Amino acid sequence: MQGHYDHIFKILLIGDAGVGKSSILLRFTDDAFEEHLASTIGVDFKVKTVHMRGKTLKLTIWDTAGQERFRTLTSSYYRGCHGIILVFDVNDRPSFEHLRTWLDEFELYATSAAAAKLLVGNKVDLDAREVTVEEAQAFARQQATMYIETSAKTRSGILQAFDEIVQKVLDTP
Ligand code: GDP
Repeated sequence: MQGHYDHIFKILLIGDAGVGKSSILLRFTDDAFEEHLASTIGVDFKVKTVHMRGKTLKLTIWDTAGQERFRTLTSSYYRGCHGIILVFDVNDRPSFEHLRTWLDEFELYATSAAAAKLLVGNKVDLDAREVTVEEAQAFARQQATMYIETSAKTRSGILQAFDEIVQKVLDTP
């Protein structure tokens, strides 16, 4: 039934500018991709309803919308979030190395320490890899989370990534 859902979950996309956060969101919610996506001003989010384990879940998925260029997000961005998707570009090593900083900020501001986490390596369709699957998996293990590789361009891994974060949110007390 329209307008009826069992839970509303707030999911955040976090990571350096240019790694593909907006593109991942656009692929998931609209099944679209743009080569030259304009970075918008201000935090934006999109809503998508999914069905899982017999429940109707309304996801509000937040995109930093360029705010991360200033290397910090506001505490209100993190407030009340249930899950975070940490995104880096597998072809851009600094974006992988900055994940630690993003995690520190998240831990500082998140109101729920138990928020679910997922590590995503994006742009696997490109042929200029600077981060191996093994290194990314090792980092994910340290964070007790899973690692999924995606391409917003080809759709590879996108549904799997959102499925995984929602499953994890459902399993988080
Ligand atoms: P954001 O700043 O993290 O939100 O990154 P954007 O979503 O704006 O993406 C930055 C650029 O990378 C844009 O030109 C996108 O078209 C491109 N992009 C995003 N995801 C992919 C991907 O999976 N593959 C390729 N080849 N390009 C991508």
